[in-house]
Amino acid sequence: MFEKVLIANRGEIALRIHRACHEMGIATVAVHSTADRDAKHVLLADESVCIGPPAAAQSYLNVPSIMAAAEITGADAVHPGYGFLSENARFAEIVQSHGLTFIGPSPAHIRLMGDKITAKAAVKEAGIPVVPGSKGEISEPEDAIAIAREIGFPLLVKAASGGGGRGMKLAREESELIQAVQTARAEAAAAFGDGTVYLERYLEQPRHIEVQVIADSQGNVVHLGERDCSLQRRNQKVLEEAPSPALNQAQREEIGTIVSTAIAKIGYLGVGTVEFLYENGEFYFIEMNTRLQVEHPVTEMVTGVDLVREQIAIAAGEPLSFTQEDVRFSGCAIECRINAEHPRTFVPSPGKVREFHPPGGLGVRLDSAVYSGYSIPPYYDSLIGKLIVHGACRKDALRRLSRSLDELVVTGIETTLPLFQDLLKNENFLKGDYHIHWLEEWLAEHDG
Ligand code: ADP
Repeated sequence: MFEKVLIANRGEIALRIHRACHEMGIATVAVHSTADRDAKHVLLADESVCIGPPAAAQSYLNVPSIMAAAEITGADAVHPGYGFLSENARFAEIVQSHGLTFIGPSPAHIRLMGDKITAKAAVKEAGIPVVPGSKGEISEPEDAIAIAREIGFPLLVKAASGGGGRGMKLAREESELIQAVQTARAEAAAAFGDGTVYLERYLEQPRHIEVQVIADSQGNVVHLGERDCSLQRRNQKVLEEAPSPALNQAQREEIGTIVSTAIAKIGYLGVGTVEFLYENGEFYFIEMNTRLQVEHPVTEMVTGVDLVREQIAIAAGEPLSFTQEDVRFSGCAIECRINAEHPRTFVPSPGKVREFHPPGGLGVRLDSAVYSGYSIPPYYDSLIGKLIVHGACRKDALRRLSRSLDELVVTGIETTLPLFQDLLKNENFLKGDYHIHWLEEWLAEHDG
């Protein structure tokens, strides 16, 4: 097992990884920008190294600085968390070439899944159903027309290197297609340094359902069921729950088995999430994330599996501590993403947190790096915490969520907490009756 892990991240996920390491008897190294000197992940780690100025490009994405920090502190592994360098195959290679372990899949798998065109082809070959679309990239906007006619409208032009819900353009009819391709290409080139785009059928009212997998180096692959992440704004997840209110046990087992069989065929190692859109009883693959997800606690709460602990143990060469038959799904878990943003306009609201009182009690978990008196820097993602509740059934979990939201106090900054209070009054949400566009429609109605 590792003796010292460098955590190449910040915020709540850096803390989550630190906690898993300490429970495993592993020392931690925090890296941080000058803006994060007082951050909780820095205060709690055994050692910390400043790796650059506030801008992420010069700190959390600064590979030479991170590698220097690993060398100086004598870390034997690097955990990338999510975001930042977590899906950067080159970074994984560099970590390995320095004789350290990258806690994640092989660089080849990160690269394969990082390009959505190659990812779709690979999973399709392995037996996973995909969204109908172009076989490869659209090199000339004019080529798009013939391909689009085959797939049918409406269509989504998507960036092969896309992420965070960016680089997608909708074309409802042929006259909009060329413009959509050009805009998507320009946006993707600017945002990801890669203007490659492809076409996909646009699904009108699907749910976003994803399957968590975990695979060890002995060839064992286990799926841990699904998470429903259909509550989204601008293609970004806002609330996640497990199990999905839309699936029954047979459907759950069927998609889980399809996914774990395919992942075994691909020879994947570590934790991963296979994301689908689900409409009219059919699953359509959209992408695979080769890292820990923000919403992983939802799965931990319904299975009792410590995903980060297993992820670290697998990277150290150990076998999974359980088999598929050992996995027991219990009750329902719901996660709310708490952002430092205005609850209606979603304008970021960094600044000093005056008071922070977390909720408590049975079945309540708060993953956050915020504390009273902490100043949220304006340079990074606005996610400041996640409230996760577990109940014996969905109704219990909803009641517990409502009670926990009442207890949770954050003052000094705006947060998205009131949004969840409002959602809990909505019949459709309470029934689990929503799709990926539902939240935006509801917000528009609410404000109108
Ligand atoms: P990213 O990597 O940017 O997160 P994804 O491919 O995972 O991109 O898609 C993010 C979200 O965009 C999905 O959860 C869904 O809301 C929407 N989306 C993606 N593909 C489609 C599609 N073919 N039809 C309708 N919505 C889509």
